[in-house]
Amino acid sequence: MSLISIIVPMFNEEAAIADFFAEVQPIMAALDVDYEIICINDGSKDATAGQLAGVYHDHPKTVRVLNLSRNFGKEAALTAGLDLARGDAVIPMDVDLQDPPELIPTLIAKWREGFDVVHAVRTSRASDQWLKRTSARWFYWLIGQLTDVEIPANAGDFRLMDRKVVDVICQMRERDRFMKGLFVWPGFRQVSIGYQRRERAKGNTKFGYWRLWNFALSGITGFSTIPLRAWTYCGFIISMASFFFAAYLIVRTLVFGVDVPGYASLMVTLLFFSGLQITGIGILGEYIGRIHGEVKRRPIYVVDSYLGPQLPAAENSAVILPGAARPRPHDG
Ligand code: UDP
Ligand code: MG
Repeated sequence: MSLISIIVPMFNEEAAIADFFAEVQPIMAALDVDYEIICINDGSKDATAGQLAGVYHDHPKTVRVLNLSRNFGKEAALTAGLDLARGDAVIPMDVDLQDPPELIPTLIAKWREGFDVVHAVRTSRASDQWLKRTSARWFYWLIGQLTDVEIPANAGDFRLMDRKVVDVICQMRERDRFMKGLFVWPGFRQVSIGYQRRERAKGNTKFGYWRLWNFALSGITGFSTIPLRAWTYCGFIISMASFFFAAYLIVRTLVFGVDVPGYASLMVTLLFFSGLQITGIGILGEYIGRIHGEVKRRPIYVVDSYLGPQLPAAENSAVILPGAARPRPHDG
């Protein structure tokens, strides 16, 4: 029987955990598959860790729990889950039941038809506020223009991925992780199915607008260098225009002599180009900041503790438990 890994990142979700397991476990048990539910506790400050320990105690065969040492963000938590997953297929899911568990059998059916990635795409964003809906639409349009990977609009992280796709993603160890893009990047046979997204069952959203904005920047900088290169063309066009304007000024001065007025045009060009230059520097800064993050090569997440079947030895596992340091190469 094939093994399905469900990855559930959780950050301060004490209110949502019980409902999640109550709904997902019967659905999984009814399927003709083996399954593991991998819970990543992303540094919760509430009772999440204790509740997860309880769930593990009741279902040690189907539940695994990884407690991270602090809050690393959903993308890092998902990465930890992918590193831990042993399944032939992997499904990341939110704990708040916004990703409907009753869709899982359909995802698996599509996978059995031979698709390697089955995206769950929401057919309506009616449950979102106007601003979130509109900004999301712009974002997907923009990233579609700027990147080569085809990121399906309105797909969350909820999808099914075959083992071969997960193996590729696990090799991509970048720190600044835009998972929606990373999931698509490996390619293989992909298909989308539609679903109606529910309202959050319990608890509160962790993604405010500032976080979504930074998320969008990660997506664009992670998958496109067009914002960097655009300045070459912008600069070239401005230089050409300046050249002709200079020629015009020289001719005019030779023919009509010097005239002093011009404060307004001088001021406008000065301000316009200062703004343009600072924007250009800002965009450079976005990329340099991210290079800075990457070159430090810090781990993407740090594990505090783990509940579940024994992990492979440290040198064979991406997940390093405290006290199980890898032997360093020059140690002999
Ligand atoms: N989450 C996480 N770490 C974070 C923020 C969120 O693991 O730093 C988890 C959260 O517990 C939930 C999922 O990511 O399971 C989606 O979060 P949320 O429902 O708040 O996002 P939204 O659906 O509002 O976009
Ligand atoms: Mg949610």
